[in-house]
Amino acid sequence: MNLLLKQSLTAAAGIIALAIGTGGCGDKGKDKKAEPALNAANMDTTVKAGDDFYKFANGTWLINNPVPAEYSRYGAFEVLEEENYTQLKTILADASADKKAVAGSVNQKIRDFYNSGMDTVKIEKDGIGPLKAELDMINAFTTAADVQKMLIQQHASGNYPLFYLYSAVDDKNSNQVIANTYQAGLGLPDMDYYLSEETRSKEIRASYMKHMAKMFVLAGSTPEQAAKDADIVMKIETNLAKISSTRLELRDPKANYNKTDLAGLQKMAPGIDWEAYFDGIKLTATSEINVGQPKFITGMAAMINTVPVADWKIYFRWDLINSAASSLSADFDKEHFAFYGTVLTGAKEQRPRWKRMIDQTSNSLGEAVGQLYVQKFFPPEAKKRMIELVSNLKISLGERIAGLAWMTDVTKKEAEAKLAKINVKIGYPDKWIDYSSLTIGTDSYYLNKKNSRQFETNRSIAKIGKPVDRSEWGMTPQTINAYYSPNMNEIVFPAAILQPPFFFMNADDAVNYGAIGMVISHEMTHGFDDQGRQYDKDGNLHDWWMAEDSKNFEAKTKVLVEQYDNYKMLNDLHVDGKLTLGENIADLGGMNVAYNGLQKALKGKNMDAKIDGFTADQRFFLSYAQVWRANTRDEETMRRLKEDVHSPAETRVNAIVYNIPAFYAAFDIKPEGKRFIAPENRADIW
Ligand SMILES: [Zn+2]
Repeated sequence: MNLLLKQSLTAAAGIIALAIGTGGCGDKGKDKKAEPALNAANMDTTVKAGDDFYKFANGTWLINNPVPAEYSRYGAFEVLEEENYTQLKTILADASADKKAVAGSVNQKIRDFYNSGMDTVKIEKDGIGPLKAELDMINAFTTAADVQKMLIQQHASGNYPLFYLYSAVDDKNSNQVIANTYQAGLGLPDMDYYLSEETRSKEIRASYMKHMAKMFVLAGSTPEQAAKDADIVMKIETNLAKISSTRLELRDPKANYNKTDLAGLQKMAPGIDWEAYFDGIKLTATSEINVGQPKFITGMAAMINTVPVADWKIYFRWDLINSAASSLSADFDKEHFAFYGTVLTGAKEQRPRWKRMIDQTSNSLGEAVGQLYVQKFFPPEAKKRMIELVSNLKISLGERIAGLAWMTDVTKKEAEAKLAKINVKIGYPDKWIDYSSLTIGTDSYYLNKKNSRQFETNRSIAKIGKPVDRSEWGMTPQTINAYYSPNMNEIVFPAAILQPPFFFMNADDAVNYGAIGMVISHEMTHGFDDQGRQYDKDGNLHDWWMAEDSKNFEAKTKVLVEQYDNYKMLNDLHVDGKLTLGENIADLGGMNVAYNGLQKALKGKNMDAKIDGFTADQRFFLSYAQVWRANTRDEETMRRLKEDVHSPAETRVNAIVYNIPAFYAAFDIKPEGKRFIAPENRADIW
């Protein structure tokens, strides 16, 4: 779990996706395929633009591209992901066949990691064997002190039962890295699944119980014992869910900032011996710690001593098996997928092993793979073009801020200063992670994964108490995504997103501003969304707003919250306007800023000139809609509505464009249009 505070373009998939360009180095940066930047064949012009723009722009594509068995959602991101697998495969194929790689080199590590994951003969032979030492340790528990020892041992190795301990920028001293705790301990992806009485949550609870029981049987229990053990885990996790913060509460930076010292933490959560804990995880340099969710840490620490040791043994056993399952033999791996893949997301089959091992290698040796990827597939011209676009869009956002009727000049000045200070990272880091202390061998895939987890944990712990390293990246270059970090006040665009349908090296401005231009503006706007606006230009949680401006901002965002709350999905469900507010502000602001940027870029040119039958303004909105085309399984839609701070794909188009005046003009939309919003009811923030 990546806990770096950042606001991304789209939810990070469970999978890391990779690559760019076409075949070899010679093709770097060419827009691949003969397909035009905008393909009219993907549209459905039997639908009116004023009724459903998402379908108007993507309808035929949606009909022709049902979700493949291994996916839960399939759209522009996933199409690109598939191309990335093909690219990354060439890197992994070269690496895995490289017999001459020098021992200790990153090539040797990539080779052995990938090959060990593909060696299913060995993995089958090992079965649950790789967990034996840790399972024996759990079996030997007799006291609450043993429970704590196990907790420390697991956390020291980078597995986090009960809560996370990680390094992050101090929200109120953005030059400094401090230790943080964050709630955890649940096998289901949201506390609500344990507590809600809605049908879907009840179904998921029942399936989860069955799944746990099956896994315990695979690990050697009798079916009777396994069912009892599943009950006990469910009871413990339900109690943890009760003291957890909701996703909405987790979006409030102030509520999640509770800095204290060792003595303060000991008082807050006396159930754990924190000095022993920090010694055990080799964190001796810390004097400050941010307790993300105090209610959780207090309640969880109390449980260490109140839950019977016999029950903790079962809980830790479950946590260990569950977190290792996909690295073990096929029986564990398949059952794990049957629940986490099929039940929760609706995916019908697992991805082929080579794809999963590309994901894992790219996860464990992220920047090592990223370095090879960038060398092979990232064209330097893309970076140049991006720098130009970012600087145009910064000016565009500055103009929008200057023109805001609802904001006082005092706050505007601060906002402009914050905008001017936004740092930009494009493509890949200037300084790569040094993997020399990571040992990867041919012995065991599980061990390789464990070693790389240990490596990441050591890196993370070593940062605590030190100044922030501003050269670090929170995503690998091969990730199709982008983010804004409020603490760093920076926007980051990994190499992999700089390709169609987001970024076209040779297409017209309208298409690029509607796609990557919107992505850039979306990320910049995060600095001014309901969360981002609480941070100042230096990345500190500090209120720089005049009271009346905050009031106006809240009134303006309320319009957006209500619009999304009313957006129906799958008959009786709806989007959560508050949970998705930050992303929706970024989408709306992103589109306004990108549109303004396009108008500036087109100044002096013939605005009505058509390409493939569409004006520049039309191409801008069509390009935006194309980025979000996606078919989604119902299970995945239900999951995302609960867990994802991003709105569903369709909403990212339809709930945005009808707020933008230029959209009405571009497609000549009249009040008769089904989604027409009267000008006075439209949302407009940045
Ligand atoms: Zn975002």
